[in-house]
Amino acid sequence: MSPFAGQSIAVVGLGKAGLPAALRLREWGAAVTVWDDREAARAEAAAAGLHVADPAADFRFDALLLSPGIPHILPRVHPAAAAARAAGAPILVDAEFLFRAVRAAGSGARFAGITGTNGKSTTTALLGHILASTGREVAVGGNLGTAALSMPILPDEGVYVLEMSSYMLERIDILRFNSAVMLNLSPDHLDRHGDMEGYRAAKARIFARAQAGDLCLLGDDDDLTREAISGAVHISGEHATPGGIWAVDGVLQDESGVIMDLAGAPTLPGSHNAQNAAAACAMALHLGVARAALAPALRSYPGLPHRAEWVGTHRGVRFINDSKATNADSTARALESYAKVIWIAGGTGKEGGIAPLAPWFPRIAHAFLIGRDGEAFAASLAEAGVAHTVLETLEQAVPAAAEKAFAGLADIVLLSPAAASWDQFTGFDARGEAFRALVQELG
Ligand code: ADP
Repeated sequence: MSPFAGQSIAVVGLGKAGLPAALRLREWGAAVTVWDDREAARAEAAAAGLHVADPAADFRFDALLLSPGIPHILPRVHPAAAAARAAGAPILVDAEFLFRAVRAAGSGARFAGITGTNGKSTTTALLGHILASTGREVAVGGNLGTAALSMPILPDEGVYVLEMSSYMLERIDILRFNSAVMLNLSPDHLDRHGDMEGYRAAKARIFARAQAGDLCLLGDDDDLTREAISGAVHISGEHATPGGIWAVDGVLQDESGVIMDLAGAPTLPGSHNAQNAAAACAMALHLGVARAALAPALRSYPGLPHRAEWVGTHRGVRFINDSKATNADSTARALESYAKVIWIAGGTGKEGGIAPLAPWFPRIAHAFLIGRDGEAFAASLAEAGVAHTVLETLEQAVPAAAEKAFAGLADIVLLSPAAASWDQFTGFDARGEAFRALVQELG
């Protein structure tokens, strides 16, 4: 199969996804040139037999596949993106190439797209789990997990379940999602999108190619999302949304009646997960899953690491790894799930810091703050009279937090940083693994 025969494609950004993407595009017939600003990545690509050259020097390509982590407008345009724009070439994302290849192969496999500030990975994994549990052929990934160009070509009945970040959505063109959801919106990545309106516009692109019969879902639990587009079906983890799927007090239902009480789904606690479950179920039904198959699949969903994940118990104290909570909104979800916690937070904070967490401050018996914005977070806590200690690293914070918990202050130690990890780790997963290891050492 050579869907890209005769096309020349520049691939810039050779991270985890970039290198396999370049190889796949070449396998599918494209003339591929690759580039990365890091020397080591260029060397690795050359060793894999790829043609390495800086496309910014002389842009003569049909398209630029630009890693979602590299900006093409804000905060500062990358030279390769500037060169592509000057040459009038489209800047695209790997999922767009996957869609084109699938259609070129004659497959009618369907595409489900999931976006939002929080809950993307959970909803993506959950929808993948529901579909797989009913015997459907699925490829699950995108922004998280398997990258789009590492997925196989599925047959007509197959479904691609793709987690789509706003960065990815800025770079789709003809990719049509048969079933798509925007879960929620809160301030995030504003350095890239300029303002909330830019961020919302990027996310709303998930619906741009929808046709009659396609499912467009909007989360109903925040004002910005609820009004993002007209004519959508609404879902909620909190209140009734006639025509859609919703949960009230954890009971998932639609106009036909109760789907299940989520108390029976231990890996999906809280109203935020009820929203994720509502979205995944609405999409699954639209993709042809029988209603009766939903509850058993929700019950057997295994959950994802680093999201309110239990990683150990010592002397009656439970240690919870919520490293994935990189903004205040996510951390609010974790804090509201526990009555009293010893809280570990900090890192590279987002706009507004932890001020939005004030309603949950009474649940914090003591906080340990680390990383670049530890002092700034401490200032918010000091104002509210919350006991806290500023440290530097997670290595210091875990034993200190354990000591407070063992002294009887609380029986939960929660790592839910409300901040990105880039100042001290290679990502939230590395931070979560470090936490897991430190908790194990306590034993
Ligand atoms: P994403 O992939 O969008 O970052 P995840 O599913 O990995 O989202 O969840 C990250 C964190 O966000 C979770 O640990 C939880 O605290 C919070 N969260 C999950 N789902 C939602 C939701 N629907 N609304 C608000 N917060 C959520």
